[in-house]
Amino acid sequence: MIMQKTIAGEVSIKGKGIHTGYETTLCFKPAKQNTGYVFVRSDLPGKPQIPALADYVFDTSRGSSLKKGDAVVRTIEHVLAAVVGCDIDNIIIELDHEETPIIDGSSKYFTEALQKIGVVEQEVERKIYEIKQRCYLKDEEKDVEMYLIPDNEYRITTMVDYNSSVLGTQNAKLKNVSEFNKDFSAARTFVFLSEVQALLKHNLIQGGDIKNAIVFVDKILSQEELDHLATVFNQPRVSVLEEGILNNVKLNYPNEPARHKTLDVLGDLALVGLRFTGHVMANKPGHKTNVEFAKLIRKQIEQSYGNTSVPH
Ligand SMILES: [Zn+2]
Repeated sequence: MIMQKTIAGEVSIKGKGIHTGYETTLCFKPAKQNTGYVFVRSDLPGKPQIPALADYVFDTSRGSSLKKGDAVVRTIEHVLAAVVGCDIDNIIIELDHEETPIIDGSSKYFTEALQKIGVVEQEVERKIYEIKQRCYLKDEEKDVEMYLIPDNEYRITTMVDYNSSVLGTQNAKLKNVSEFNKDFSAARTFVFLSEVQALLKHNLIQGGDIKNAIVFVDKILSQEELDHLATVFNQPRVSVLEEGILNNVKLNYPNEPARHKTLDVLGDLALVGLRFTGHVMANKPGHKTNVEFAKLIRKQIEQSYGNTSVPH
């Protein structure tokens, strides 16, 4: 018998949102049994709550964002991945602005904060739903395929293929969620240099905001461009490393992009709102399809176990 878990006390993390640039404090707080994962906007009147459920997703363009009433929380996936990775069932995630801090683009700082404060057992048993039938989702336009097949554990296998000389095919396997903290939580988000340059040109990002991101160099750079990037990144010199990335960071794992995509799948599928067992196989996953798949899994659990099994 496995009992539900929450955290032993409160712990805060401060940082800027990657898309909005707002400085935000995120505070993890313990929650009663059967609460699930709930976001709170402490800066808004009445401190509205937004349950972390797929039904509340309203935007998946650059991250997964939730909305209930007028309250919005943005870019929630890295935080939720850390919560799942730390084996937590019930938690309040309070924000004093709309977007979670990006920190280094991974889940590591959230994971460390949760581990530091400690995870404790509660008095009610954890319910785990066994997936009995396959789920399948295909997005022709985005060339994404998602499978969920019955398994005695919750596992995720991810395949990415960017069809680029610097980032081709990569796989990552999370064989058990207990591997997450050590082997996946430090996998950072990544971008292609051509995207960064387009954003810089239109003043949509500040160099400081991407100082921790992995930048894959998908074009040949002139010295002038390298010098400009050095100024933007606030570094004495910018060069391209052997792996085809800019020298602002070193890779934490050789297949860091595939691991980060696995982290995103884990975080987005937390929006199912229930524990389940099954093997997720994600081919070129993205937030839009991850969220659609979370809804599909909810529907399948509802069909197998009855209406009242799924929280709303
Ligand atoms: Zn991500």
